[in-house]
Amino acid sequence: MLGDDAVARQMIASTLVQPSPDRPLVAVLGGGQLGRMLAEAGIPLGLRFHFLDPSADATARALGELTIGALDDLAAAETAARGAEVITYEWEGVPAATAQALAAIAPVRPGPRALDVSQDRLAEKEMFGRLGVGVAAFAAVDERADLMRALDAVGLPSILKTRRGGYDGKGQRVLRGDGDVDAAWDALGGVPLVLEALVPFRRELSVLAARGLDGTTRCWPLVENTHADGILRVSRAPAPALTGGLQAGGEEIARRVLEHLAYVGVLAVELFEHDSALLANELAPRVHNSGHWTIEGSETSQFEQHLRAVLGWPLGSTAMRGFAGMANCIGALPEPDAVLALEGAHLHDYEKAPRPGRKVGHVTVTGPTEPDRDHRLAAVLEIAGGS
Ligand code: AMP
Repeated sequence: MLGDDAVARQMIASTLVQPSPDRPLVAVLGGGQLGRMLAEAGIPLGLRFHFLDPSADATARALGELTIGALDDLAAAETAARGAEVITYEWEGVPAATAQALAAIAPVRPGPRALDVSQDRLAEKEMFGRLGVGVAAFAAVDERADLMRALDAVGLPSILKTRRGGYDGKGQRVLRGDGDVDAAWDALGGVPLVLEALVPFRRELSVLAARGLDGTTRCWPLVENTHADGILRVSRAPAPALTGGLQAGGEEIARRVLEHLAYVGVLAVELFEHDSALLANELAPRVHNSGHWTIEGSETSQFEQHLRAVLGWPLGSTAMRGFAGMANCIGALPEPDAVLALEGAHLHDYEKAPRPGRKVGHVTVTGPTEPDRDHRLAAVLEIAGGS
């Protein structure tokens, strides 16, 4: 018989068991839920993970080693990357200097061009324009006088955004009348901005796609996304009423971007459907919240696909397993048993402290038909609508 202390020691030891060092190591810059879900997909493939994150509470710590450090802390980044087969990221804010320094240790995938473009909304829009991809009318604003010129060019209503660092609707202000201009400038001014026409879109869609090391590309069906307060709330895949033309248009946008950037990995392009055409809003050079449904709803999840791509492995099928929907849990999680009582529902708890406006988990539903999916999603939203 083991005494209480010995049992406790055994339990601690078993929770600290390290995967074999022979397993290929993937270094991930960022240790949030996207990193965590990468590891959830990669551990069964025989991989181990080392994350770099500024927070000791980074949720990915449960699934790999964690080095605590800022993403511009080169010594910390090198510690996380040491011995890695490949280095990837789950946040597009990775500084160029970090990516460059780490490239001496192992390949950084996706490469630096994707980071450069996606860190600057102006560069992103200019790239889309060069690739023949439609975007909302826009103008650069670097100083107050530019704003008046930009308003003349773009008109009202419009939306003023910081060029760098905005996410989840942060760093932007809608301008509906001349009276909004000063307040928006005061709130955002002093940093490079871009003014965009406010698109009266029919709906928001996203296209998720992957490119492998050998140049093979794969695309999932387009996703319909609903946001509130700038945060994604609900995704439906395939998007309802998805015509062949929309799907082909979304795939073509993704393919042009993937090839232009010689991209390796999964990316998402956020789109507006307007007048039966697609306009590109934003590029995310990483796995994306609107692709979480792929874990249960696709033959290959976006997380597994990203790992396959960055490791130079064959890409997997992006065929759907029926119809899928996803609801983000914002601020707090629903009771697990209430979610699990719903047919076709799958709960993902990110192990993050509840806080208003914070993504703490998501629920995916799958169903054999579109009405099943919608019915199940509505039931999930009743209990996991979030705050
Ligand atoms: P973003 O940070 O660019 O992804 O914007 C967050 C959300 O703001 C988008 O998902 C849209 O709902 C809305 N939004 C952003 N840009 C525009 C635009 N040019 N026209 C209309 N809505 C926009």
